[in-house]
Amino acid sequence: MVTLPQGPGLSIAGERRTAARTLAVIDPATASPFIEVPCAEAADVTAAVAAAAAAAPDWAAVPVAERGAAVTALAEVIADHLDELADLLTHEQGKPLDRARGEIESGIRFLTTVTGFELADEVLRSGPDEEIVLQRVPVGVVGAITAWNYPMLLAAWKLGPALYAGNPVVLKPSPYTPVATLRLGELAQSVLPPGVVQVLSGDDRTGQALVADERVRKISFTGSQRAGRAIMTASGPSLKRLTLELGGNDAGLVLPDAEPSAFAEELFWGAFSNCGQVCAGLKRLYVPQDRLAEYAEALAEVAAGVVVGPGTQPGVDIGPVQNRPQLERVRTLLADSVADGAEVAYSGPIPDRPGYWHPVTVVVAHDDSQPIVAEEQFGPVLPVLGYGTVDEAVERANSTSFGLGSSVWSPDEEQATAVADRLVAGTVWVNQHPMLSADVPFGGVRQSGIGVESSRAGLLAYTDTRVRRVRHRG
Ligand code: NAD
Repeated sequence: MVTLPQGPGLSIAGERRTAARTLAVIDPATASPFIEVPCAEAADVTAAVAAAAAAAPDWAAVPVAERGAAVTALAEVIADHLDELADLLTHEQGKPLDRARGEIESGIRFLTTVTGFELADEVLRSGPDEEIVLQRVPVGVVGAITAWNYPMLLAAWKLGPALYAGNPVVLKPSPYTPVATLRLGELAQSVLPPGVVQVLSGDDRTGQALVADERVRKISFTGSQRAGRAIMTASGPSLKRLTLELGGNDAGLVLPDAEPSAFAEELFWGAFSNCGQVCAGLKRLYVPQDRLAEYAEALAEVAAGVVVGPGTQPGVDIGPVQNRPQLERVRTLLADSVADGAEVAYSGPIPDRPGYWHPVTVVVAHDDSQPIVAEEQFGPVLPVLGYGTVDEAVERANSTSFGLGSSVWSPDEEQATAVADRLVAGTVWVNQHPMLSADVPFGGVRQSGIGVESSRAGLLAYTDTRVRRVRHRG
């Protein structure tokens, strides 16, 4: 049996810990394990939550400006270790090294931006008889659970507002991508008091134990609808606060006045960034029926210039699918759709070596019920569909239980904006897809989630309101 190198440990109560079991983390570009990390069990979760609960009162009492300085220090220590973290991220997640750096840099921006948002008391009324003040107080221990597509960015999205608002955190990354997040946890100990940040690698049961602990007052979750539903149910007994960022099946609508050659490149990257593993990626593309073939060809032309390969190799644009079950899922959705009459317009080359490789694939689909259209594929396959009228396209885009993002594409911005206003989604983009910013709320409607992240609105979701009413006695 091959002995794997030991990765970073759990962070609990300011200490590095091991666990009784370990997780072997697979490099998707080789399909082989490359490092071993602890797999936290229920007892580790209990210890982590206890440490967080013990740290909660003191952290809540730290003045908000000092908490902001600590979040900034966290951003700085991440920046100081950018190369190391990006290397770990590429090996565990698969994305090209420059994209891994980009993800971490984006996380740093989210961390620093949050410290600029207002958390001060707000005087609602001040008169001779009474003063009423609205306060934003910490919710308490936050359980943060992340997915495998952007582990470092999602960690930053949750750590920044949770900490700045005065809450200790227990962060649990996906079992597929725990390594860089564990290292982040170790680094966090150098700038934060013990117990303020815990990081636990583990499987779904570790997440379940975290949600089941009644001392955890809020769960901030990014992942699948399946797990989101389970977390919502399990949060019921202790009435936890919830922010749920779930899946999407974002439609892109190209209006009749758009030229395929002018839009193909951006449409392509809207769908295929991060190997198509983006919650708010473009996942169904609606184009005028009479230009369907032209769009498929224009997208195929862009695809033909793209290099698929290991993220460590210079010049690679798209890495492997992150894990085997996801690769199987994408293959099945595609095969079932082709069996139902969808046509593959382009299927690109993949490296001739072990790894979770899937060709960059453009599919002409003829029916919204085909699995690659109806379901979230979360992989490097884009179905393109023809529509008759714009009204029909809007109706089809909206005919889903998802509601994360949608986009409209046209040289006529005014017309596109009017169409965008008819789409049901947490974000509607015009001539871009997706675009997220630290100071702009992001979240899903319908079954794509509950609440928002980013922006001051996202920050306030890590607070409870306390109203202080003082009666003046003469
Ligand atoms: P997943 O739901 O399988 O796992 C996500 C995390 O939840 C992991 O850490 C996992 O261990 C944990 N988990 C699973 N079941 C749990 C349970 N019952 N209780 C507690 N924790 C549990 O999702 P995934 O496959 O890692 O991620 C892919 C999905 O995430 C896609 O649907 C994608 O669209 C979505 N996603 C959404 C956003 C967003 O912001 N909306 C961002 C990224 C990914």
